[in-house]
Amino acid sequence: MSLKSQLKTAIAMGWDRAERVRRPPPKLTILYYHAVRPDQRDAFNAQMAALKREANIVAPDHSGPLDADRPNIAVTFDDAFRSVREHALPALEQHRVPATIFVPTGWLGRSPGWRMETSGDHEEIVMSAEEIAALPRDLITIGSHTVDHPFLTKLSDAAVQAQLVQSRATLESLMGGVIDTLAFPYGNHDDRVVEAAGKAGYRHVYTVAPQAIVAGDPAISRGRTSADPADNPTLFALKMRGAFDWMPYASKLKAAIIPRS
Ligand SMILES: [Zn+2]
Repeated sequence: MSLKSQLKTAIAMGWDRAERVRRPPPKLTILYYHAVRPDQRDAFNAQMAALKREANIVAPDHSGPLDADRPNIAVTFDDAFRSVREHALPALEQHRVPATIFVPTGWLGRSPGWRMETSGDHEEIVMSAEEIAALPRDLITIGSHTVDHPFLTKLSDAAVQAQLVQSRATLESLMGGVIDTLAFPYGNHDDRVVEAAGKAGYRHVYTVAPQAIVAGDPAISRGRTSADPADNPTLFALKMRGAFDWMPYASKLKAAIIPRS
């Protein structure tokens, strides 16, 4: 683990301890994964078993009451890699953990050509249209991850609109139902992009900054916490308990102290 990760984990442990004393209102923590490699099957299975044992598992767009005694967790995957179907789906089915998969519709059945978020994802292949349509509907919900996986904030209004509307239309015809959630590629967004997503008919959009979501939170945008099958049980338990919710505060503080050029 890098020094930076160790520091983050140490802060998370302190935060977790303080939160147990403070007992804040129940919150929802949304986890997001990318790939699950063949050698990570068992580790991922153990994480899903831990969720089933210790958490109340809901959908990421859940707006009803939250459990006060257990962590409330939603599981999501960005990029719709085939490895998720092959190495994560068996564990989701075994433990009956529902999950949402965000699909970049311009890359169906192909190796991703966008700039990778995590270094190990270069050998991945995005699921084909047939593979996505065949996912178990009782367990897997599909959301948009745009068409091309661009940095949305760098696009014109018209191009943003095209990414949001076209991906939604492709997935709706593929799944035969309403698609109204979206995960921003790279978490990249600003107010303009969030507003465009609302106009394009998305009910919820997901970022990559950890956030404690309280029951009935009306905001269209929801934060998520990065999870990885490689997370050891201690780190995964911290993530499950929302112990990384301090991170956005740290980023804001850093931005205030060190203005960007
Ligand atoms: Zn992505």
